Amino acid sequence: MKEDALIELIQNKIPKPKKHGILGIGDDCAVIPGRGSNSWVITTDLLTEGVHFDLKTTNAFDLGYKSLAVNISDVASMGATPRYSFLSIALPLKTPGSWIKRWTDGFREISKKYNVCVLGGDTNRSQSGIAINFCVIGEASTAQIKLRSGARPGNLICISRPVGKAALALKLKVRGSRTEMGKALHRPEPEVKMGKLLGKSKAVTAMMDLSDGLARDLPRLLKASKVSGQIELDSLPVTSTLVRECKRLRIPPLEIAASGGDDYALLFTVKNPQFVSLRRRILRTLKREIFCIGSISEGKGKLTWTQNGKHCKLSLNSFEHF
Ligand code: ADP
Ligand code: MG
Repeated sequence: MKEDALIELIQNKIPKPKKHGILGIGDDCAVIPGRGSNSWVITTDLLTEGVHFDLKTTNAFDLGYKSLAVNISDVASMGATPRYSFLSIALPLKTPGSWIKRWTDGFREISKKYNVCVLGGDTNRSQSGIAINFCVIGEASTAQIKLRSGARPGNLICISRPVGKAALALKLKVRGSRTEMGKALHRPEPEVKMGKLLGKSKAVTAMMDLSDGLARDLPRLLKASKVSGQIELDSLPVTSTLVRECKRLRIPPLEIAASGGDDYALLFTVKNPQFVSLRRRILRTLKREIFCIGSISEGKGKLTWTQNGKHCKLSLNSFEHF
């Protein structure tokens, strides 16, 4: 059974939330309305040794940082501010104390950066590898929470930063986070400021973060919004380092960018007439560019790729658990 089918099975087995405003399975975070005009958004992500990380290429500090970063990224993708977290770990008996200490230094660094306090968790022994699970709770004005389901025909599809670096780093088994590509894979930065700005904008209709790669994540947004989408491969933003490395390895850089994985960029849709002013506002406030990569059309969740305006097919596969 594939990952999405398994989640759908679980979703169909459990009762739907009854209270108005509660949002369960299907978005980057669940949403629970608070008492006033704010809501809580809640997410949890499990990282397992051998699947999400390899101790030969990542160090304890970076892993600590990343294990919280990927959850903060889900909160950012709702347009919310991360606030609290819970941490559960399973460690093999042989895990050295010095490794564990460096790992806690890593997540302390990012928790200080974004003001996320750890309120609890659980600790267990593992008979096989390391497993790390953070749950992060964020807060946002209910009106500014962005879901995957808001995209409408005519909207533009945008991303918040260049993609593909982490996927290439994984392919090349890059060690540590000192290089541009190593940093993208081992110490990704969640888009907290960008997410909040996009959350506040009425021009933004839907949003999610990219964790499994554009080719896998965008269809999820399309399906949730009941629309189709078209991406122009040539418009995907890639850095010169990625292009250079891909040339050396004879890998098409745009395909790496499209199938990606571990990007943690924000993927969002914008009302076409407001795109230019949104882009200008973000440039002014964050000194950052946003990138229009395609458009939404009527349809049933189909994603098509074009290059130079002509239909094309991707040959690389995105990440799939099962
Ligand atoms: P993300 O990549 O943003 O973390 P996922 O693809 O992991 O999102 O999950 C998609 C949706 O499915 C989320 O709403 C998540 O809460 C839900 N989900 C994933 N795994 C399970 C599970 N085992 N039980 C219930 N819900 C799940
Ligand atoms: Mg996500």
